[in-house]
Amino acid sequence: MRWYNYDGIPSNFFQITPLGVEKEFKGPSVFHIKGREERPFIFSTLLHGNETTGFFALQKFLEYYWDNELTLPRSVIIILGNPAAAAKSKRHLDDQPDFNRIWTKGETPWHKLAEDLMTKIEEYNPLACVDIHNTSGKNPKYGCVSKKDDLTLKLAGLFHSPLIYVTEPSEVFMSATSKFCPSVTLECGKPGDLEALNSVVEYLKDLIETKPEHLPEYNGDVYKTIARLKIPQGAWIDFIGKNDPEVNFSFIPQIEKLNFNTVPKGQVLAKVNGKNVIEVLDDNNNNISDQYFEIVEDQMVFKKEAFPSMFSTSIEVVKSDVLGYLMEKVEL
Ligand SMILES: [Zn+2]
Repeated sequence: MRWYNYDGIPSNFFQITPLGVEKEFKGPSVFHIKGREERPFIFSTLLHGNETTGFFALQKFLEYYWDNELTLPRSVIIILGNPAAAAKSKRHLDDQPDFNRIWTKGETPWHKLAEDLMTKIEEYNPLACVDIHNTSGKNPKYGCVSKKDDLTLKLAGLFHSPLIYVTEPSEVFMSATSKFCPSVTLECGKPGDLEALNSVVEYLKDLIETKPEHLPEYNGDVYKTIARLKIPQGAWIDFIGKNDPEVNFSFIPQIEKLNFNTVPKGQVLAKVNGKNVIEVLDDNNNNISDQYFEIVEDQMVFKKEAFPSMFSTSIEVVKSDVLGYLMEKVEL
């Protein structure tokens, strides 16, 4: 397994969708596009094969220069992380690890692949890295940072406010590359969100004309995740919001609307058929659900004001990963 390097951007890049990247470019791909200024920006996407907004945004962004035979103001390195998974519209293939969890020391061939690219990235001496993703739940677009220095906040703030500060999981591309330069993740809602796609194109256009230090100061808020919400093992769930003796947690159907909003004390999250609430796990894996939820008659309600994110109504995602997260404002 290796990276396939390309000089410039081949014309067939503009004629395919993420489904065709594997066939056209053989595997994990790196495109080196020379601009007037040499020190590059790195734009990566498809680390998760089914998160397609970044690919389409890069196509649209580069098309402008390609169609008009213009040289980019600055060099750009494009990374397409997992074309094999993209060909199957999957986050990753069954026999692969998650490609955004391999960017630390490890023994697998995939860790080796990541390490090879990290060595190269250090040599490229990039001005900044931007990794583009989608979320599985219906979230607004937002920017993530793993550091809170001025340049990183400016780089992410150019995309959106508020920002999310995340340090876990630490094996993500953003954290690894943040050792070399300001590095951010752009989360663009669900794949297919055209407004988010266009805002990425605008973001890339604005960024390429400047340097992170010349971006405007970031004055918005930064939130961090304080807990993960998990469904107890073996519990039955749905998103209908009705009492059902067979269903342990019947979450309100409009649960995704709570994402990135202040939720008041007393807000109903689910109809329940027992006395148990869901698990609320802090960074040390302590269950702190008593602080956040209580059962009032047949409903599970917020015991205090909260700021949730990433609520998803995909039963598969919720059962295998998390229902969502709770956040709080970070003092800068
Ligand atoms: Zn992703």
